[in-house]
Amino acid sequence: MDSAETTDPAPGHPSEEPAELPPSQAIPEGPAFLLITRKEGNFRHTNPFSLRRSIDSYIGPVNSLKALRSGALLIETKTETQTIQMMRTASFRGTPVTISLATRLNSVEGSVRSDALTEITNMELLQELQTQGVVRVQRLRSRDLQNLGPNPTVRLTFSGRILPQAIRCGYLAVPVDPWVPAPRPCTKCWAYGHSKRACRRRQPMCGRCGGPHDAEKCDGPEQCPGCGGPHPAWDRRCPIAEDARQWHRAEVKNRRAEHRAQGHGRPNGATWFREERPDGLLPAPHPPSDIGSPPTRSATAAAAAAARRRPPDRRRRRRPPDRRRRRRPPDRHRNRPSRRGRLAAPAGPRRDP
Ligand SMILES: [Zn+2]
Ligand SMILES: [Zn+2]
Ligand SMILES: [Zn+2]
Repeated sequence: MDSAETTDPAPGHPSEEPAELPPSQAIPEGPAFLLITRKEGNFRHTNPFSLRRSIDSYIGPVNSLKALRSGALLIETKTETQTIQMMRTASFRGTPVTISLATRLNSVEGSVRSDALTEITNMELLQELQTQGVVRVQRLRSRDLQNLGPNPTVRLTFSGRILPQAIRCGYLAVPVDPWVPAPRPCTKCWAYGHSKRACRRRQPMCGRCGGPHDAEKCDGPEQCPGCGGPHPAWDRRCPIAEDARQWHRAEVKNRRAEHRAQGHGRPNGATWFREERPDGLLPAPHPPSDIGSPPTRSATAAAAAAARRRPPDRRRRRRPPDRRRRRRPPDRHRNRPSRRGRLAAPAGPRRDP
């Protein structure tokens, strides 16, 4: 045993930190969020109709396209092929742009529960699972570590927007459930359904008595600001907190059933798992979903195929003449010789001495 292992806290120990990989710019499987920023200025004064049309005609329909307050665009692609194609774009409607992955949005959370995982630390689990797309591991706290041992439930963050049905742990397949964050009350007004940052109340309420002061300075009788009962807002006896817990239990059940139903709809049991990557930071070998190529093709081959089908640089070169021609009055356009005629005219005399 080396010194690093002896100083690490035991699995489930309260001092054990979540284990996390550094943020990566690897292209995730399936849908992805991308940020498009202009090198100069922003998209505020750009024609939204033609911008939408040019994105649709370039990579096909996307899941969503949104303008951010910063003036950047947030786009959610449908497939890895679309993402690769977008990431290669250096300019947009003639203006230079920077396109990057919105790293924090390109992840999905799930949880696994297995007694077989209780002897493994967060860091060891992350090392074992990173080839399956896991980027963060956090064991939930045990209610009673001494008597019950470490909590068998582990919260996992996967790169990309696709939650697998299960993870492979050695010889075990452990089912993955969607992670539903437990509802927490707003710490300003103690209501459920929004956070402190989104709270519209100006004066914070005391969580102990509901008065207009800080709970730490409170010495009045306890009166819940939510239900008016003789307890602080964060007490487990509060009926409003109990309602929130009931909602959470139902939501966990519904989301799990939905997730399982999605898994059963898939034709091949193998798609239940993430494809194992040789290194968690490399783009996964994944076939583009729109051309139905064999699954052995790598992402780079798929990208090359996509580039062959519609090379972005050729398209950019072709566009300006098209637009100029459209703007010209129709009579001038009719009088111009056709492209074939123009090309044939100078070639004629040279070929014929
Ligand atoms: Zn609030
Ligand atoms: Zn108070
Ligand atoms: Zn209450």
